[in-house]
Amino acid sequence: MRLNKPAKSPAGYDNMSLAIYWHRDDLRLHDNPCLHRAVNGYDRVLPIFIFDPRQFEMLPLGFRKTGYHRFIFLKDCIAALQQSYQEKGGNLLVVLGRPEEILADLLREQQADIVLAQAEVASEETTVERSIAAALQTEFELIWGKSLYHRDDLPFGFDEIPATSKSFRIRAQKEAGVRELLPTPDRIDCPELTDWGKLPVADELGFRREEALDFQAPVPAGEKAALERLHYYTFETRLVEKYKWTRNKSLGIDYSSKFSAWLNRGCLSPRQVYHTVKRYEKEVKRNISTWWLIFEVVWRDFFIFSHAKYGDKIFRAGGIKNRETDWKHDKELFDRWCRGETGIPFADAHLRELWETGFMSNRGRVNTASFLTRDYEIDWRWGAAWFESQLLDYEVSANWFNWNTQATEIYYTNPVHQSMKYDKNGEYILSQLPELAALPFPFFHAPWLTQEFTGVEPVKSYPQPAFIQKKWGRSIGNIRKEIPEEYEDLVAKKG
Ligand SMILES: Cc1cc2nc3c(=O)[nH]c(=O)nc-3n(C[C@H](O)[C@H](O)[C@H](O)COP(=O)(O)OP(=O)(O)OC[C@H]3O[C@@H](n4cnc5c(N)ncnc54)[C@H](O)[C@@H]3O)c2cc1C
Repeated sequence: MRLNKPAKSPAGYDNMSLAIYWHRDDLRLHDNPCLHRAVNGYDRVLPIFIFDPRQFEMLPLGFRKTGYHRFIFLKDCIAALQQSYQEKGGNLLVVLGRPEEILADLLREQQADIVLAQAEVASEETTVERSIAAALQTEFELIWGKSLYHRDDLPFGFDEIPATSKSFRIRAQKEAGVRELLPTPDRIDCPELTDWGKLPVADELGFRREEALDFQAPVPAGEKAALERLHYYTFETRLVEKYKWTRNKSLGIDYSSKFSAWLNRGCLSPRQVYHTVKRYEKEVKRNISTWWLIFEVVWRDFFIFSHAKYGDKIFRAGGIKNRETDWKHDKELFDRWCRGETGIPFADAHLRELWETGFMSNRGRVNTASFLTRDYEIDWRWGAAWFESQLLDYEVSANWFNWNTQATEIYYTNPVHQSMKYDKNGEYILSQLPELAALPFPFFHAPWLTQEFTGVEPVKSYPQPAFIQKKWGRSIGNIRKEIPEEYEDLVAKKG
């Protein structure tokens, strides 16, 4: 494949070395180990991002591996990265195709010395890495940059990663330490290409017109937006000091950091988060919330390194422990779940938000994963695939490990109980399910009770649950207790 004419070397540049830097989920210039290596080890850098059509394929479940929200967010991150390179005097080559077919050709055409890339842990990505390595051999170098702790600093090899996040955290904190930030280059010298490519449009990746949703991403794309949010969440608003008490909410943007989409596309370095929070603790305030935010970022590391340890076992039906399982494969119920039409408002509100915006709170993820696997008893891998398709912050280790744990390890989460506990006044539910706005408190928690108490049919546009679980009985009883006397009277009169 011919991508470009060989770069014309300006007079006197003939003997200059050139590194191709293949961007993957490291879409930033700050604290970037690959870029640091490229800029400091070579005279010029040719940064490239490759849109790989395999990532956008339609799955047998009827949705794409990477859905439309994720495509748009990624594309916007690439546009932002391209602009950042241009501001530094360089540029970013954008190509559509398979990395293993493109990079070797590009290396030869550009007479480059090496291809540099961030190392990944998941098998799809490492398979691609292996075929590039087979073609390029010593001209291909993988560099670690995904996590807070550097893999070489951990006091254990991948095979010895502790089984619990607590022991991982304690030992890593004590024995590894977080490295200092790498400087952002002032200037980036790139070769002079005749064509820097262009961002693909949706139909080049197979999207049909009806898949092109009009959606509002909860956070803007790119590195600058990520760094602004980090500043906002810490020094500007001091929200970080309240994090522990707000993190279980679902409504709005400020109850949690919202760093995830940027962290996982690599627009934000986890070390940047760490060092900013540490500076905040020193200069402003240190409390349980500032501690907790770092604790969560270390969870992310725990899943990345555990994935490196267990490999593809994290994708097995029985999870990493290979538990006996008998998952159902009821596509109709699964589709109701994906669309947020289960008839259980707390679950549906979260599922609709995911579908409409590409984001869902942690409370929502815990509840909807539990609902799919413990109430519908549907194969958790279907749910994980739906999250993979939809989540702007999708990260292979965090997603599949959290699902794995939720389906096979963690206690059941009762969605009726959680609804009253986390959204008693229904602000979140009603923000996502406006069709329930006509129902007074507490009926929007359990709309199927409406007819019994008011004689009014439940909202027609909102579905009845497929079934009511016996184990929700006590929580439904608690909702009944909240029903005002006037409704009790109405039922008594009718009786
Ligand atoms: C079923 C399920 C699937 C999930 N899938 C993903 C996923 O694909 N990508 C993802 O980043 N997180 C995932 N999570 C974890 C968590 O829900 C999100 O990280 C969090 O909601 C993102 O919002 P935030 O950035 O505001 O998080 P905050 O609460 O502000 O936390 C700060 C950061 O800590 C990390 N973090 C927090 N909780 C977790 C966790 N449980 N596991 C790993 N990292 C965590 C994230 O990087 C996050 O950005 C999943 C959780 C569940 C239960």
